[in-house]
Amino acid sequence: MRIARIGSAGQEKPAVLQGDEYILVDSLIGDWSRASLEEGAMAKIAAADLSGLPRVAKGSTRIGAPINRPTKVICVGLNYLAHIKESNAETPAEPVIFMKAPDSVVGPNDDIVIPPKSLATDYEVELAIVIGKRALYLDSPADSKAHILGYTISQDVSERHWQLERSGQWVKGKSFPTFNPIGPEIVTGDEINASNLRLWCSVNGVMKQDSNTDDLLFGIDHIVWYISQFMELFPGDVINTGTPFGVGLGFKPPAYLTVGDAIKTGIEGIGEISNNCIAYRA
Ligand code: MG
Repeated sequence: MRIARIGSAGQEKPAVLQGDEYILVDSLIGDWSRASLEEGAMAKIAAADLSGLPRVAKGSTRIGAPINRPTKVICVGLNYLAHIKESNAETPAEPVIFMKAPDSVVGPNDDIVIPPKSLATDYEVELAIVIGKRALYLDSPADSKAHILGYTISQDVSERHWQLERSGQWVKGKSFPTFNPIGPEIVTGDEINASNLRLWCSVNGVMKQDSNTDDLLFGIDHIVWYISQFMELFPGDVINTGTPFGVGLGFKPPAYLTVGDAIKTGIEGIGEISNNCIAYRA
């Protein structure tokens, strides 16, 4: 199943993408959210006859983030070997985990606002895991799949000056408004092998990142199991699994984003999202 939310910002309706049409399912589940997933949204959709529901052609409407207000956005850092090298970092013995303000989540093709005093805004293509079922103290990585709803594309926009130069935790550089476009849909885990997918990011038509999720240092099942050892995961929670080689930070000199840049971020089997970088306006 492909889970989506469509409509203008703040007015999105939940949908399921079938072929080139979104089938609106708001009459069945209200929204795609932590609450509706906890109340059995997936089972309700699976049991329902969708044939009489309203349909909207793909491409004719704005797409919102596929989950309404995720409770949290957790990120894995330094999770691809070539990216660790370009970051001049040590290979971590355990997953590097940090968080991003959930309010940074926007629709997959929404504008990215470059912060007014930004020195180093950067792009990061990532495979995002979306949690489907509460997970706490899982016994082993083999238990993770049962707790995963599916996968989507995440653009983990990062302001490197605030992330790396202003001391303390990375959260500072990760949480600016609009810094986490996700979508276009969540592809449920039964439809995709997320451990072997090409993922890429281009800026102004120039390919910058081009890798595969089979290069993840800590894989999907390990990540969910690991996080559950110290944090409770809830339906709709988003986990950004880390970015591969090719971020602006790694260029000599660094090549950061500026107003007017056009970013395309894609993952095989999920799709591609597009974001324009715009200036902040009060
Ligand atoms: Mg990242």
